[in-house]
Amino acid sequence: LTQLFRPLDMLGTVYRTIRQGLIDMAEMFRLMDTDVEVRDAPGAPALVIARPSVAFEDVVFGYEPDRTILHGLSFEVPAGQHFAIVGPSGAGKSTIARLLFRFYDPQSGRILIDGQDIRAVTQASLRAQIGIVPQDSVLFNESIGYNIAYGRDCASAADVEAAAQGAALMGLIERLPQGFDTEVGERGLKLSGGEKQRVAIARTLVKNPPILLLDEATSALDTRTEQDILATLHRVSANRTSISIAHRLSTVADADRILVLQDGRLAESGSHAALLRRDGLYAEMWARQAADAEELGEAAE
Ligand code: ADP
Ligand code: MG
Repeated sequence: LTQLFRPLDMLGTVYRTIRQGLIDMAEMFRLMDTDVEVRDAPGAPALVIARPSVAFEDVVFGYEPDRTILHGLSFEVPAGQHFAIVGPSGAGKSTIARLLFRFYDPQSGRILIDGQDIRAVTQASLRAQIGIVPQDSVLFNESIGYNIAYGRDCASAADVEAAAQGAALMGLIERLPQGFDTEVGERGLKLSGGEKQRVAIARTLVKNPPILLLDEATSALDTRTEQDILATLHRVSANRTSISIAHRLSTVADADRILVLQDGRLAESGSHAALLRRDGLYAEMWARQAADAEELGEAAE
């Protein structure tokens, strides 16, 4: 298990933080191909969070100057609440996640965490406080322990084990030939989609961030595995501020508030029950997904 710590010291802190962001978000977008335009302001302080609220204030953003993706988006997630963002593919949901992680800056408007403009603080401190579980997590060709410890610079063996426990991974690890030292990935043990997501959750637990961002974290999984992982995520997001971007509406029906995004604008927002009563876009999406689920169920019989 001591092997865990070896490679973590190889890289400089800043480089590592950027790399980690890339790995976490790799499947969300390809920053490798993009110039990194975002820089820390000279003398920027670290983000210090007392109450992890997240606010978008009239945010306008486009990847290209002539194509606006978010058209003046505003919302606020109070500290400790669970918000969901839903909407058609291409609506701008993942863009919100990328902006919050500050891979890009808005053209206008502000993004605040606990009242602090994220442009005014260091990127390293910002990214250290946001845990991301993307749709398809990327694992390194390293031990499973290394992959979990990657969430933090100086994770101890006890931290890693506690995180594995929290992500319901101990059953798997106990069955592995070399436990935490078992190599995973292309050159090692192939993990299932659900197991990879559990490693990503454990990585996030090691990081212990006050803010959690789930971008379709379970949408690549079959329904049964999705239910298992959702239960774990539910536990993990207690006492944190969380934003779940979701494709399957049934996975976020219990959110404190659901934001329905359409063409980069907030079409509707409210609780699941309130949105159904409203009988608008959300209700329509819900009815369509329910019908699809029924069809699938019948097909399976
Ligand atoms: P969602 O997550 O809701 O499906 P995204 O936020 O990923 O949508 O994308 C919103 C829009 O921005 C889409 O039209 C998409 O094609 C575009 N887009 C996403 N990433 C980039 C990029 N790196 N460069 C240019 N356009 C992009
Ligand atoms: Mg997306």
